[in-house]
Amino acid sequence: MAQQLIDGFGRAINNLRISVTDQCNFRCTYCMPEEGMIFMPRDEILTFEEITRFATIAARLGINKLRLTGGEPTLRKDLPVLVKMLADVPGIDDMAMTTNGFLLKKMARDLHEAGLPRVNVSIDTLDRQKFKDMTRRDALEKVLEGLEEAEKYFSLPIKINAVAIRDFTEEELVDFAALARTRNYQIRFIEFMPLDADRTWTRDQVLTGAEIVDKISAIWPLEPVRRPEQREPADLFRFKDGKGEIGLIASVSEPFCANCNRIRITAEGKLRTCLFSLNEIDIKALLRGTASDEEISHTIIDAVSKKEAGHQINDPDFIQPERTMSSIGG
Ligand code: SAM
Ligand code: SF4
Repeated sequence: MAQQLIDGFGRAINNLRISVTDQCNFRCTYCMPEEGMIFMPRDEILTFEEITRFATIAARLGINKLRLTGGEPTLRKDLPVLVKMLADVPGIDDMAMTTNGFLLKKMARDLHEAGLPRVNVSIDTLDRQKFKDMTRRDALEKVLEGLEEAEKYFSLPIKINAVAIRDFTEEELVDFAALARTRNYQIRFIEFMPLDADRTWTRDQVLTGAEIVDKISAIWPLEPVRRPEQREPADLFRFKDGKGEIGLIASVSEPFCANCNRIRITAEGKLRTCLFSLNEIDIKALLRGTASDEEISHTIIDAVSKKEAGHQINDPDFIQPERTMSSIGG
């Protein structure tokens, strides 16, 4: 498909992240409040037909990668039906889902059969009590069962996302590295970003990618994996003895923005050109109104042309978006 999504900084946009719900069965401290989250009304959430129409229009413009996310995407009723619809969109050649894994044991097979090739499973700790403290759910065992099930169906290595938080993650770096060395998992550490509902983020809570590499390398030396063209936010490192690799998403300390290829649509149909956007475009109003596909195409092209140069977390006048990670779609 002809690439028509080039932003004002010359970046080609080919990756669309679709939030299918803002609901979640966890309440991770870095993402949602313990109580009092106000969820989007059901009739405000895009239908499967609306999501598929939007993805089809975006694919004609050059989007070829989709990621389903949320909130927790597996909570969306009949998710495999949507996966099938999206897998059939012409021009889409890669689809993945980011999930907390809680429902994967039950759903992995159906999702795979519907056409989902890859999943990322989020696991921040391998310790049951710490997991409970972080997610506010006693669910580690069930998530690990989901991960095992995922291994039967999805492309390997399975990517595991772990948010890296100071005084929380350090003591488990070696355990995570051991997992990456012995199992078919690529552990990806994501620097903690200011998108938490409780707004307690401070810079000193960010355990940086560089620190993580140093600490793991002290036990098992790592070396960077050079890629001809990096369009993924994760910097990859392999163990020098050849046993597995880890990824670092250093969004705060070494932003990936200059190579960003992403746009996002929220569960209620707001197009966002950056995780940290302060503006959004109401695609739902177009989808539910009389707008033609061509008008929607123009809206997407126009939004992309105004895509932000990058997030401003490191600027003194940084403004945290109103939305939490769960309502944007991480
Ligand atoms: N519920 C699914 C999950 O947890 O995998 C998908 C949505 S979640 C918002 C997507 C990813 O964003 C997860 O890997 C999560 O750990 C990450 N995330 C959420 N809040 C974050 C924050 N404040 N900083 C960095 N990563 C965050
Ligand atoms: Fe839910 Fe994912 Fe946010 Fe945790 S990170 S509260 S699992 S949406």
